[in-house]
Amino acid sequence: MTCVFSVTHAQAVPQAQTDSVRVLNDIKWLADDRNEGRAAGSEGEQNTAAFISSAFKKLGLQPKGDKGTFQQKFSFNKGVHGEGKPAESNNIIAFLDNKAVNTIIVGAHYDHLGNDGQGSSLDANPENKIHNGADDNASGVAGVLELARHYSTNKTRENNNFLFICFSGEELGLLGSKYFTEHPAVELEKVNYMINMDMVGRLDRSTRNVFVTGTGTSPVWQPLLQHLSSPELIIKMDSSGTGPSDHTSFYLKDIPVLHFFTGSHSDYHKPSDDWEKINASGEAKVLDLIIRLNSVLDSEPKLAFLKTRTKSSAGRASFKVTLGIMPSYAGNENGLKVDGVSDGRPGQKAGIQSGDIIIEMGTLKISDIEDYMKALGQFDKGQTIPVKVRRSNEVVTLSVTF
Ligand SMILES: [Zn+2]
Repeated sequence: MTCVFSVTHAQAVPQAQTDSVRVLNDIKWLADDRNEGRAAGSEGEQNTAAFISSAFKKLGLQPKGDKGTFQQKFSFNKGVHGEGKPAESNNIIAFLDNKAVNTIIVGAHYDHLGNDGQGSSLDANPENKIHNGADDNASGVAGVLELARHYSTNKTRENNNFLFICFSGEELGLLGSKYFTEHPAVELEKVNYMINMDMVGRLDRSTRNVFVTGTGTSPVWQPLLQHLSSPELIIKMDSSGTGPSDHTSFYLKDIPVLHFFTGSHSDYHKPSDDWEKINASGEAKVLDLIIRLNSVLDSEPKLAFLKTRTKSSAGRASFKVTLGIMPSYAGNENGLKVDGVSDGRPGQKAGIQSGDIIIEMGTLKISDIEDYMKALGQFDKGQTIPVKVRRSNEVVTLSVTF
């Protein structure tokens, strides 16, 4: 593998200075109760769409939605498995025209789980509870707005255009980003790469890890990210082009992608994912990293695309038992990392916590999600088994009753 960017140039890149107060204010607005959890097809979502559109307009960006507006409409069926009433949602799309040949897409989903959890809440009784989704994904939207501000006010004409997109319907299965890639506002052949931010608001103050997925989708990513990693912000890489967020839709169109993620936490997909828990200065560091990355690549030719291994989908198999955890798709942990724990389910009752790494179930060793899926097939309802997890530096044995 050859390194196509020049390290001397990378070192010369000035530190960007993202305003964390502005980032936090945007998150507060987006994750306010009045938006009722921004469920796709809801009033709260329309309210949010209007907010994003007016922010783009104020920056003087070009509308790239339907008929001269910022909004690109798509239809879907409401309900947990798309079995409900027909509904409509909008992607919000804005273009910064630098008169360049190629375009960088910067995106994040703005929808979340509404006031009932849409069937994917990890709360035991999600009905009538507003899921504000401050980290998931008001943080990403605030990131898009901040980068849009940066690039439209920095008085530099980059060698790439920028397309800023806030997607809807992500929580229902990447609906907005799929629709966009089928109805793109710019030629997909001219898209240099796509940056996705989904959950960038909870940078851990002690580990300072940012997880970047998609690093196998172009030869440039790994050496460049290695170079940009610092003790302030330690980059953990995962090569896969697919994962449970919108960059997947672009990878499937042969576009190099990166997904930025500050890691999961116990508020993931729960009504408690609120703005008070956001680490805004941590998010500012992630945004500065993205600005530096774009700046290094700005003098380089359009990136080459590489296909990567694809991760198996955990959603399809059916089992007699479940643990009630959200497995992680990121990282090679030599075990299965737990990203979230459902209240009142066997895993939570046994004491499994977010961040645990499952290494053994019964007598079966667990080294990845495939092993975990296989193991689940072996147990019956009512059965009690020992489950070993790695937590910080120790191994804890828990007793799980299915
Ligand atoms: Zn999300």
